[in-house]
Amino acid sequence: MASAGKKVLGRCAICGREVYEDDKYVQCSICGALMHESCIDREVLEDSEGNILCPYDAALAALDWFDAVITTYIDSLKSPENKEKLQDIVKRLENYIKIVEESAE
Ligand SMILES: [Zn+2]
Ligand SMILES: [Zn+2]
Repeated sequence: MASAGKKVLGRCAICGREVYEDDKYVQCSICGALMHESCIDREVLEDSEGNILCPYDAALAALDWFDAVITTYIDSLKSPENKEKLQDIVKRLENYIKIVEESAE
């Protein structure tokens, strides 16, 4: 796989390996991070406008969306019939916090 003479553009934000200039790659439309075409899952990382985001910016964008939904609709979410759904949200958030905290250590 080592390729003498091929220009390395940087490292893939997903697999961490080199991205060579003749690889098929995309760049995060927010931070410009490089990613091999073969490493990205477009269903997860492509936003509604067709931009590809790196996993970090995709996670932040998802949080922004979550934040907008919660702050805009908090009053309707508080209705008694949503109680179980809200408890589900809390459980999922706690789980994500655990996963992210463990990775950030
Ligand atoms: Zn990669
Ligand atoms: Zn990015």
